[in-house]
Amino acid sequence: MTPLETPVSKKELVRQLTEASRLLELLGAEAFRANAYAAAARQLDAFEGDFGVLFSERRLGELRGIGKGLAAELYALRSRERLMILDELYAQVPDGVRDLLRVSGLGPKKARLLWLSGIDTLAELAAATQDGRVAELKGFGAKSAGTIREAAVFALEAAARLRLDEAEVYAATFAGALAQLPPPSAEPHLYWTGELRRGLETVGTLQAVFTGASAEELEGALAAFCEEVTRSEWGLAVTFAGRRLELFTADMGALGAALAVRTGNEAFVRALQERAAARGLRLTGVGLFAGERRLETPAEADVFEALGLPWVTPERRDVPLAPPAEDLITPRDVRGLVHNHSNWSDGAASLREMVAAARGLGYSYLAMADHSKTSFYANGLSAERVVAQAEEVAAIRQELADEGSEFRVLHGLEVDIMPDGSLDYSDDVLATLDYAVVSIHQHFTLDRMKQTERIIRAVHNPYADILAHMTGRLLLRRPSYDVDVGAVLEACAETGTVVELNANPRRLDLDWREVGRARDLGCMFAINPDAHHPNGYEDVRYGVLMARKAGLTVREIVNTASTAEAFLARLKTKPDV
Ligand SMILES: [Zn+2]
Ligand SMILES: [Zn+2]
Repeated sequence: MTPLETPVSKKELVRQLTEASRLLELLGAEAFRANAYAAAARQLDAFEGDFGVLFSERRLGELRGIGKGLAAELYALRSRERLMILDELYAQVPDGVRDLLRVSGLGPKKARLLWLSGIDTLAELAAATQDGRVAELKGFGAKSAGTIREAAVFALEAAARLRLDEAEVYAATFAGALAQLPPPSAEPHLYWTGELRRGLETVGTLQAVFTGASAEELEGALAAFCEEVTRSEWGLAVTFAGRRLELFTADMGALGAALAVRTGNEAFVRALQERAAARGLRLTGVGLFAGERRLETPAEADVFEALGLPWVTPERRDVPLAPPAEDLITPRDVRGLVHNHSNWSDGAASLREMVAAARGLGYSYLAMADHSKTSFYANGLSAERVVAQAEEVAAIRQELADEGSEFRVLHGLEVDIMPDGSLDYSDDVLATLDYAVVSIHQHFTLDRMKQTERIIRAVHNPYADILAHMTGRLLLRRPSYDVDVGAVLEACAETGTVVELNANPRRLDLDWREVGRARDLGCMFAINPDAHHPNGYEDVRYGVLMARKAGLTVREIVNTASTAEAFLARLKTKPDV
C-alpha cells in the first residue's frame, strides 16, 4: 500500500499543538487540557521515525500522550488547514491578545494578566510598559517591564513587515489575482518598487507603479479581491490579505521617472532631485520636468542619463549615490555551495541527493556541514558518526571519479561554539575534516562581553575556517544576541576566518550594513545557503543580493573560486602576522 500524501508536516503539527496549549493557558482553561496539547507536541517533536508514514497509516496513537480523541483531531488535518480547536480558540481570543504571545519572554500566564488588565494589543503593551502600568502590575515590576518593552517594540515592528521571501510571495499572489480578472478597458501592468525592488531583507508597505490603466479603472478591478481600495492624487492605497499596498499611477512616457522616485530610498531620491535641480530640472513621481515641459523618460536609464549619472542597480540605492562598484557579485559567480546539511543531522535529504542536486544546478563543488554533537536536537554527529560520514563521503567521491565527473564533495561540519569559546570536537576530530564552519546555536543570553569573548576565542581556533550566522538573528522573530560585532570582525580579519553571509532569507546574517566595515578590516566572505534540502540551494540568490547591497565583488567572496581546491586554498590562507 502506498502511503497517502501527508498534508501536514511534523513541524507544523508541533507548532499548532503548542499554540493550542498556549491559548488554552491564556484563557485560563483547566491545566490538564493545556498540558495534554503541550505533551502531545513534545512527544511528536521527539519522534524520530518517519512522520509521514505514521500519519498516513493512522498510527499517531502509538505515541505516548496522543489518545484516540486527539489522534482523530489530528487526522482531520487531511482536509483542513488547522486544528479544529484552534478555530474555537481564535474565536475566543482577540487577534491583538494573540499577538501578545509573540513577545519574546512573555508566556501565556503573563499575557493573561495583561489581557485582564485591559492590555489587548502589542501597541497597547508598548505604551503600557512606557507609562508605568505594566511595572505596577502584580508579578511584573520595573525591570521586567523594561525587558518586555524592548521585546514588544521588536514584535510590533515585526508585525508591520514581511521577510523579503514572504514579500515576494505576497507580491506574486497579488499580481496573480490581478491577472485573473478580466482586464478593464486597458491592461494594467505592475512594476514593483520600494523596499521590495531594492531587495531589503524585510519589507514594510509594498509599493508598485502601474501603467496601462487609469486609477479609476484599476480601482474598479481591485474592488473584486481587495479588502479596501482608496483613491488619492498619486494612485491607490489598497488593503490586500490584511496588508497595505501603494499603487502609483504613471504614464508610459514618464515610467522611468516614476520608477526612480518610487523605488527610493528617500536619501537616494533626494540626491537625484538635488542633482536635477543643479541642472535646472525637476524630478517628481510623475516625471522629469524642464520648466513646464515634461521630458520623455520611458526608462529609468533616461532619468539617470539626463542627470549625467550612470544607472544604479536598485539594490545599491540604500547607499546614497554610491560609486558604481565594478564586478558586483552575481549569482553565476558563486561556484560552490558551502555550509549544507543532510539527513545525517537535521537536513531532509541524503548526502547523495544533496550532491546530485548541486551537480544538476551546475555548481562545481558542494561543501557539507552537518551539525556537531552538542546540537543534539538537530541530531548532531558524535565523533564516531563523523568517521562514518567521512566513509560515505569517500564512497561518493569514488563514484564521482568512476563517472569521470570533476564535481567535488568536501567533508566539513558546522561545529558548535561552546559557551567558553572552545569547539565542540577535539583537534583530532577537526583535523580529519576538509574545513569547518563554526557557529552558535545555544546560550544566546550571555552578556555582551562574554558572548564577544566566546566568539573571538572560537575564531582564533586554527580549525575554524568560516564563522557562520554571526549574530544569530532570525529576521522579524529574534533579534541578534548581544555581541560586539566590530570586535568579532577584527578577530576574523586578524585570523583569516571567513565571515559567512548566511543566505537563508530567515537569517541574512551578517547584516549587509556591517559588511562594509568588515571588508575595510580585510575580511573575506562566503555566501552560504545553509541548505537543509536541495530546495535551499536557491537561497544563494538572497545572499548574493545582500552582498550586492554591500557592494561586494567576486574577489572578496571565497566560494567564487572555480574549484574546490582553490576554495580550500582561500580558506586556509591566513594573513601574515
Ligand atoms: Zn547554524
Ligand atoms: Zn547550518
